[in-house]
Amino acid sequence: MTRRERVTIDVDVRPRFTACYLRVTGGECAFIEAHTAHALPRLMAALTHAGRRPEDVRWVVVTHAHLDHAAGAAALLAACPRAALVAHPRTTKHLIAPEKLIASAVAVYGEQRFRDLYGTVGAVPNARVLALGDGESFELGGDTLKVWHTSGHAYHHFVVDDPAAETVYTGDAFGLVYPDLQAWGRFAIPSTSPTGFNAAEARRSIDKVLSLGERYVCPTHFGAYEDAEVIAAQLRRFIDRAERWVEQAARGGQTAAAAEPGLRDAWRLAVREEAPRFGEAEQAFLEFDVELNAQGLAYVAKQARAPA
Ligand SMILES: [Zn+2]
Repeated sequence: MTRRERVTIDVDVRPRFTACYLRVTGGECAFIEAHTAHALPRLMAALTHAGRRPEDVRWVVVTHAHLDHAAGAAALLAACPRAALVAHPRTTKHLIAPEKLIASAVAVYGEQRFRDLYGTVGAVPNARVLALGDGESFELGGDTLKVWHTSGHAYHHFVVDDPAAETVYTGDAFGLVYPDLQAWGRFAIPSTSPTGFNAAEARRSIDKVLSLGERYVCPTHFGAYEDAEVIAAQLRRFIDRAERWVEQAARGGQTAAAAEPGLRDAWRLAVREEAPRFGEAEQAFLEFDVELNAQGLAYVAKQARAPA
């Protein structure tokens, strides 16, 4: 029987916050998500722990171009000499020439914080890239993994269906499901971070993930879950709310910066409604995403208002 494994690798400074997955089938391996160059030692340690060598890595798959998923792709490819990158065509474009990605993140975070967060973002060599269209697939040790384009969180996003492991790797298209927030029952929240959120597409992405019918969903933030329907129902409620807030903010005619505090409060209140038993620790844990989600919705509201 073929030996088949899916390993969750905890790659962030903050524990149980950001995952990469290592998939092994027979003699071949794939990393799903690359995180940043900071994660490289942990990724290579996981490979060694699984009894595999860098030469066994055939694919580095990233679900989208956001830096906590893709910034380390070039470093990981450099460490795995036979691997190629698998990504959405719009993501491969960003990673072959990452200057734009870097510039927009530096504009948000400043030079020093950018380096602390994301390290060095190298360019992925053109010759080591496999850009996959909607419904296209790649092979791993005789298993077939298929990608489905899922915008809604970002226009350069896909999810990866892995039937042999009964798993779909959902990136940020099926919410954030942090282990530290599950003490009072399942809690999932969508990421509406700048600049690509689209409520209708986000709903379609959720339906797509469910339609694949796999036993496990593996969001990048964080780990494997078996109750996709429960997660989906909560995500839909949040997305419906977010859509209303965007409409209200767009009508309000404020600048993005002026709309943000109100949107932050809206997110906090919605979290309290969905998770009434959360204490201060859980609310504090979510502040990072509340901030990003408010920024993202303020941006969308501003775009909605912009004259055609
Ligand atoms: Zn993202």
